[in-house]
Amino acid sequence: MNKLLIYPMALTFLHFDFAGTDESAFCINWRKETKGVFIIVVIGVEALLTFVLGAVVGSFLNVCIWRIPEGMSIIAPASHCPSCGHPIRFYDNIPLVSYLILRGRCRACGTRISLRYPFVEVLTAVMALLVYWKFGLTLKFLAAFIFVSALILITFIDIDHQIIPDVITLPGIPICFCMAIFIMKLSFMEALLGVLIGGGSLYLIALIYELVTKREGMGGGDIKLLALLGAFLGWKSLLFILLVSSLVGAVVGISVMMIKGSDMKYAVPFGPFLSFAAVAYLFVGEYAVNLLLYHQL
Ligand SMILES: [Zn+2]
Repeated sequence: MNKLLIYPMALTFLHFDFAGTDESAFCINWRKETKGVFIIVVIGVEALLTFVLGAVVGSFLNVCIWRIPEGMSIIAPASHCPSCGHPIRFYDNIPLVSYLILRGRCRACGTRISLRYPFVEVLTAVMALLVYWKFGLTLKFLAAFIFVSALILITFIDIDHQIIPDVITLPGIPICFCMAIFIMKLSFMEALLGVLIGGGSLYLIALIYELVTKREGMGGGDIKLLALLGAFLGWKSLLFILLVSSLVGAVVGISVMMIKGSDMKYAVPFGPFLSFAAVAYLFVGEYAVNLLLYHQL
């Protein structure tokens, strides 16, 4: 159930016309108005809490993006300034707020804090809102938000290091598989074929690419990532994901080459484009597939 559908309904209640002058009609209008205001308040509070939750998770993702490729623990030690090693106090570690208060600088040494940190926090918070808009506060929200958070994590690690760590994808595939079947209500076969075709198709493309160009083009990480995406979204999503990610990846890749003037060897990580396409499918995939196949919405 899409809760935001209630929003315009609530607004109509608010603008209810006081045409009837007798007391009973007034009472009915008054009750509807109260209900409308109540629904708007509930949605507002839920959306606000979702945004805050997203920002907090985003803050945690920043830690993971930094530490997982280094093989460090994501729990200990506590956060500290990468420049001067000064431990970051809890009141300087509030997502978004602290960055604004400190004006993007470390309290101890004044070194600039990368804009990346608040960016990831805002991105995760906005994603949480989108998932809330799509699923409401349901178990599906939880599953989809875990999925999207994992993709944000993978995207930024891939941008920084051109790797997609097995520590994320290998446990991620069975977790996404179970969430797809038990929470997202995909059929067992849809999810299973998603893993097999997802992993298999990209493996085949990588194999052919290597045979033709004698060069490794696609990392094993991408193959496991597509298997993970197929597990959560089902095999029907795979064509959409491959098409959209290749298209966006080609446009961005060519632009990067034109700007940097580098040759074909410059490696643009593919993980972010796969992740982008998967999130796009999560939100608009059904409409896009219906539009393409049946020319109707
Ligand atoms: Zn510092």
